[in-house]
Amino acid sequence: MTKGLFPTAKFQQLRTPFYYYDTELLRQTLRAIQHEAQKHEGFSVHYAVKANANPRILRIIREAGLGADCVSGGEIEASVQAGFPGSRIVYAGVGKSDWEINLGLDQDIFCFNVESIPELEVINQLAISRGKTARVAFRLNPNVGAHTHANITTGLAENKFGIDMRDMLKVIDEASHMDHIRVVGLHFHIGSQILDMGDFEALCNRVNELQDELDRHRIRLEHINVGGGLGIDYQHPNRVPIPDFKSYFDTYAKKLRLRPGQTLHFELGRAVVAQCGTLITRTLYIKEGLVKRFCIVDAGFTDLIRPALYQAYHKIENISSDEPAETYDVVGPICESTDVFAKQIDLNRSHRGDLIAIRSAGAYGEIMASQYNCRPLPKAYMSDEI
Ligand SMILES: *Cc1c(COP(=O)(O)O)cnc(C)c1O
Repeated sequence: MTKGLFPTAKFQQLRTPFYYYDTELLRQTLRAIQHEAQKHEGFSVHYAVKANANPRILRIIREAGLGADCVSGGEIEASVQAGFPGSRIVYAGVGKSDWEINLGLDQDIFCFNVESIPELEVINQLAISRGKTARVAFRLNPNVGAHTHANITTGLAENKFGIDMRDMLKVIDEASHMDHIRVVGLHFHIGSQILDMGDFEALCNRVNELQDELDRHRIRLEHINVGGGLGIDYQHPNRVPIPDFKSYFDTYAKKLRLRPGQTLHFELGRAVVAQCGTLITRTLYIKEGLVKRFCIVDAGFTDLIRPALYQAYHKIENISSDEPAETYDVVGPICESTDVFAKQIDLNRSHRGDLIAIRSAGAYGEIMASQYNCRPLPKAYMSDEI
């Protein structure tokens, strides 16, 4: 099944490792997102640029009509360069520096997602000196747990992100005394790689409670931003190449009670780009250990850090070999014992020179690459250019 999915003859001529992006799958995914989101009045989807900021990927996403969700000045610059208008850019982050805030002000971005009062004060000061009014949403900590890896859960109370939800009225009141701040919304983000719609439902219930409280104080906000976090199927990239966007958006449509005229914003990262990307690497050596067999490849955690960082699973396939499967540990060349892509997995019998595909690597892959060990950054090829 996987043979034929990749232009292996062309790959043979390229220096490995490299990222390969299936732009047709990316476009299909984007169509599915827009199709499902646009069924619901007022839904607006932003792409979380931190998942993958490859300029060609950003352009395709922009062309599909999504906005951009940025977490740094560099991401705002990358988004502007890819053609995202300031009016479709939101900017979050616990540590926004002055130049980054000024960049957001100069680009007249849609919204600053504010994570503390000291930050709000700085935004107000910088807005005063530029003669601007900053639109802000408060990022509240909904204290909703996502059933995902501890390192990627962000919505619990004890976390560097966001403002305690019990302070909602207090921070809105403080902002009302700042002339160059306009509060336009509330922002939430509960974590990543979430596949249980019950987690998003819990967030909806919390947002409803908070909005009821706002109603009691006659406060009406223009928008709610529920962040991202929809997961993908790392086990079955062929069977489930496009995430279940219908269930995702339908959950919010059913459970979250928007006020008249309110818009609902989403910030999807992984679900947009993960499945369209593959890390292609080459087998350097097969090393027979005492009890194990190692497949040593030329990619390492400098190219894809998720397995080393989160013990993340990626499906790995030998796309050169038809031979019967054998069990391998697939490891990279970096001088760290965590440089392991997978342990005890079955691969078609592998030989020096075989091409190995590490699947579902389009999100948090290329963008997290480093030059540790003085390694060159991986190149990227698009399926429609190769
Ligand atoms: C990382 C992040 C996202 C995107 O998360 P995914 O799990 O990739 O969808 C969205 N919003 C914020 C604030 C984030 O930090």
